[in-house]
Amino acid sequence: MHVTQPTMRGRTTSLLNTADIEVWPGGLLRARANHDARILARAQWVLRRKRDGRYLAAVLPEGLMPLLPRWNRESGLDEALDALDVHPGHLRPGIERVGELPLHRLQERLEALGIDADAYEARTGLRLVAEPDWLSLAGRDRYRRPLWLHVDAARAWAGLRDAAARDGVVLEAISGYRSHDYQLGIFERKRARGLDVPAILEVNAAPGYSEHHSGLALDIGAPGEPPAEESFEATPAFAWLQAHAGGHGFGMSYPRGNPHGIVYEPWHWRFHSPAGPD
Ligand SMILES: [Zn+2]
Repeated sequence: MHVTQPTMRGRTTSLLNTADIEVWPGGLLRARANHDARILARAQWVLRRKRDGRYLAAVLPEGLMPLLPRWNRESGLDEALDALDVHPGHLRPGIERVGELPLHRLQERLEALGIDADAYEARTGLRLVAEPDWLSLAGRDRYRRPLWLHVDAARAWAGLRDAAARDGVVLEAISGYRSHDYQLGIFERKRARGLDVPAILEVNAAPGYSEHHSGLALDIGAPGEPPAEESFEATPAFAWLQAHAGGHGFGMSYPRGNPHGIVYEPWHWRFHSPAGPD
């Protein structure tokens, strides 16, 4: 296997995304055990199972090091290793093509939740959102976690945040890219707490239908403000966003009375297109 070093262009680093497994660049994931810590410290890449976040194996200079028993029988492993092999061809300057992962497996997972995709789409006007096949590191979020975004959104977010800072306004990222598996996990945890699916759907988009899956949307907050609360609309940060975000290609997806029946989310912004010339 030919394995390349994570590409560093400025602060940009990429996450390789496949259906079942994410391939993280080394140095970003925290170890959950001492044994793993020694391996992760030397890892060039780490294979992480999307379903539960478990680390499967690390790519070390001398080869692959298992982090989980039977890791080599994991479904989707070939696809993840292939992604490592072709990387970073798609990251050469000027060829930053972002592909999309297929959606077909999502259908059966929605059925398992008892969600009728056709009825849901008719009611909400939402469409399935594919995950990109790689994501760009866009700094850290409020909780010091790596913030992953579509490369275009990552660049636009940096520009937005810096422009706000020049005006004396601090913008914090609360959350960027989230996988289909992550959204499924929300449903599983809430069901385990006794909520039924219709109740969960009043607050959360069905798995596969969140704009966060695309890597183009992020939740924005201000220091000291609670995350994802309507009170964000009273902050100077929100006033600044309303005046300037559009010029950076960002729009608020869920204003009051939006046609999707989604609650008002003044914190949720999606990158649509680069700003035009001034
Ligand atoms: Zn959001």
